[in-house]
Amino acid sequence: MASEFDVIIVGGGAAGIGAARRLAAGGASTLLLEASSRIGGRACTQDLGGYPLDLGCEWLHSGDRNAWVGIAEASGFPVDRSDPPWAQAHPGITRNEDDEEAARKAFGDWEERLCAVAKGSDRASDAMEPGGRWNAYVRAIAGFMSGLAPEQISATDYLAYDDASTGKNWNLPLGYGTLVAASLPSSTSLRLVTPAERIDLTADGVAVTTRAGTVRAGAAILTVSTAVLAGDAIRLPSGTEPWREAAAALPLGRNEKVFLEIGRDTAFEPDTHAYGNLHDPRSAAYSIRPNGWPVIEAFLGGDGARIVEEDGPAAGFAHVSAELAGLFGSDVASAIRPLAATSWSRMASIGGAYSCAVPGRSDARARLARPFEGRLFFAGEATHPHDFTTAHGAHDSGQRAADEAVAALWDRHRLGRRDLLAAAGARAAR
Ligand SMILES: Cc1cc2nc3c(=O)[nH]c(=O)nc-3n(C[C@H](O)[C@H](O)[C@H](O)COP(=O)(O)OP(=O)(O)OC[C@H]3O[C@@H](n4cnc5c(N)ncnc54)[C@H](O)[C@@H]3O)c2cc1C
Repeated sequence: MASEFDVIIVGGGAAGIGAARRLAAGGASTLLLEASSRIGGRACTQDLGGYPLDLGCEWLHSGDRNAWVGIAEASGFPVDRSDPPWAQAHPGITRNEDDEEAARKAFGDWEERLCAVAKGSDRASDAMEPGGRWNAYVRAIAGFMSGLAPEQISATDYLAYDDASTGKNWNLPLGYGTLVAASLPSSTSLRLVTPAERIDLTADGVAVTTRAGTVRAGAAILTVSTAVLAGDAIRLPSGTEPWREAAAALPLGRNEKVFLEIGRDTAFEPDTHAYGNLHDPRSAAYSIRPNGWPVIEAFLGGDGARIVEEDGPAAGFAHVSAELAGLFGSDVASAIRPLAATSWSRMASIGGAYSCAVPGRSDARARLARPFEGRLFFAGEATHPHDFTTAHGAHDSGQRAADEAVAALWDRHRLGRRDLLAAAGARAAR
């Protein structure tokens, strides 16, 4: 049976949309299959209390070399390049600046010791000072970065991201998820609520089976999270076991957000920040009145995120409300009310926040990114060599996989170079 598309993309997150944009620019006919009822994946902006809040990715990390910045500007989305409020502590809260300084230094020392650990055990917990006074803080911040406990983090992997980051963190006031979802080219065929259940190789490409039937194409790009890939939701061709094994070595950590609405007449300072408790590894980081909105966003990682995942949103609200009362006084309870809590770890089509290599397995990213039999290509944040865990890394991985797929199609004479150029020229002339 003839193929219906040049390429089928499985998964409509930042990677799938990055791939679709590249394929559209090259003139390849493309079908995007998405399991859920919306595109964006871990990029998701929701109107909460009248404000566009990001449930997943929010910051344009490495903004000065982040592809989404150019896409935003070309589409008329404003980009806020001012410094993030992380260093702007909310005035007047109960805090000990000497302790904060000591905790930050302990975290910096831990990061420095990771270089030596990377050459040995590669287990990030081995860089912790035994019995160190600030170990709870180191655990909490490592949880924000990786979503996992230091025992489960590869030092080599952690450093690869850190070394490549430019430290510029910009923001999209209309929401990162809004931009990602708006960026799917109109020429891409989209089927929502259509999970791929099985992928087979055929004589001239691939056959992707969904509950609505089987679709054929010259190649497929798989962009699902490592949790989905390592699980059994999609049946892959035999021979792909090493890809599943690589995905299992890149588990998704836990990170969740809890949003609170605050009364308009309360004295919270806009665009400020607070840290819950330096001695609690489950502590949250609080973004207070982002963009001046009457909202507090609590970001939880590792053990903190586990509270929301395992005990539910009400337990998450109780945890962050207690921390805020510790910072702002018990009167704060009457000024805040629950707005929303995320549940990334419990979503079957995602399964966590972002990938982290287990100790000794930083090689798994390159392993996962390799094509299979010139027909099946792999993208997604976890496959990026150093911008993993991010939406721009996901985007770039999609573009890389699209280039690989097109090169393979050319090799098989499915698409003549002339056809691609003619199609691209026809679009440009429109
Ligand atoms: C709380 C949180 C905060 C974050 N903060 C930031 C941040 O500030 N900055 C940043 O850059 N990044 C951040 N990230 C990470 C960023 O969101 C992700 O790295 C990125 O969005 C991943 O994109 P992806 O395309 O690789 O995967 P996904 O977004 O997971 O996309 C995969 C898609 O595949 C779909 N799918 C699953 N199974 C199937 C199937 N069988 N068939 C078809 N489709 C399927 C899923 O529904 C999903 O839409 C954050 C993430 C979280 C959770």
